[in-house]
Amino acid sequence: MRLKLVILDPVYRIFEQIAKRAGPIFVALVVLLTSSVVVLYYLYILPWIRAHWSPTLATVNYIFGHWLLLNIVFNYIMAVKTPPGRPPPNFDSPVSICKSCVSPKPPRTHHCSVCKRCVLKMDHHCPWLNNCVGHFNHRYFYLFCVYMTLGTIFVSLSIYQQLCTFFTGSPIRFLVSIATPAFSIIRAWISSNQLESTPSPSDPHLTAAPNLKVVHTEEYLQTQFWVSYEFFLCVGVTIALGSLVVFHTRLISRGETSIEKHINNKERRRVNELGKTYRNPYHFGFTRNWRMFFGIEEGTGRSWRHVLLPSTHKPTGDGTAWKTFSATTKCD
Ligand SMILES: [Zn+2]
Ligand SMILES: [Zn+2]
Repeated sequence: MRLKLVILDPVYRIFEQIAKRAGPIFVALVVLLTSSVVVLYYLYILPWIRAHWSPTLATVNYIFGHWLLLNIVFNYIMAVKTPPGRPPPNFDSPVSICKSCVSPKPPRTHHCSVCKRCVLKMDHHCPWLNNCVGHFNHRYFYLFCVYMTLGTIFVSLSIYQQLCTFFTGSPIRFLVSIATPAFSIIRAWISSNQLESTPSPSDPHLTAAPNLKVVHTEEYLQTQFWVSYEFFLCVGVTIALGSLVVFHTRLISRGETSIEKHINNKERRRVNELGKTYRNPYHFGFTRNWRMFFGIEEGTGRSWRHVLLPSTHKPTGDGTAWKTFSATTKCD
């Protein structure tokens, strides 16, 4: 085991260096891709929705989309900008000493080898934020992931009907010919001006030619390309980020961080071998775990409104002292 760690140590260090140096590039990539989705939505999707959907549905789409956008932008900026929290230098009741910082570590604190410092209730180092996820920005990170996933699902569903008109005119036939969009995109790229294709019954941009073939305008091809780009980017992000949301939702429901998951699993196996039952000391039951995570416990004066709308409230506690579960603790 020790030999394996020694061999892998240079590999870990290379990854740490990449994570550190590539952090600003990852952040720029998030901003660039998100901005492209928003701009394309205004340019190509909203006009189509206004022309084809009922005024009520179009208004609901508009309001819902902007509510998601507000939460995505707010939580991302806060997750990037908010320091995750570091232990005070003169902390007088540590549970251990950090070998790297040579300083006292409060409970749930771990050392980040990318940031080269200890982080309160550290979850992980996130290159997409160029920041550690810890006590003070954990809520922003999680809400960003949730709202971004909802946003990409929302955009994918809003686009789907329009996308179908480009290729088959029918959602069912579109599913059969799912490979067609990629093919059309390649054809659109190599075409300098115009492209011949099979007519689509609900195509708003086509102009019929005498031989019943259709000559697509450059504007049509541009719309086709960007709508396809928007759809496939959003579907890809939904799958990737959606999986991360599921993973973190399970962790928060159990009152543990990503790092503590490994510690708890190891400890559970050890205790089970002794014939006893292990319990995570920070697991207070599903409802209370979530209320604590969002900082909306009873008596704080905060509610789910502070989760559904941007809020800069701090989490409960300073991240150095943690209540632990005991047999007498009230559990939801
Ligand atoms: Zn440290
Ligand atoms: Zn870090």
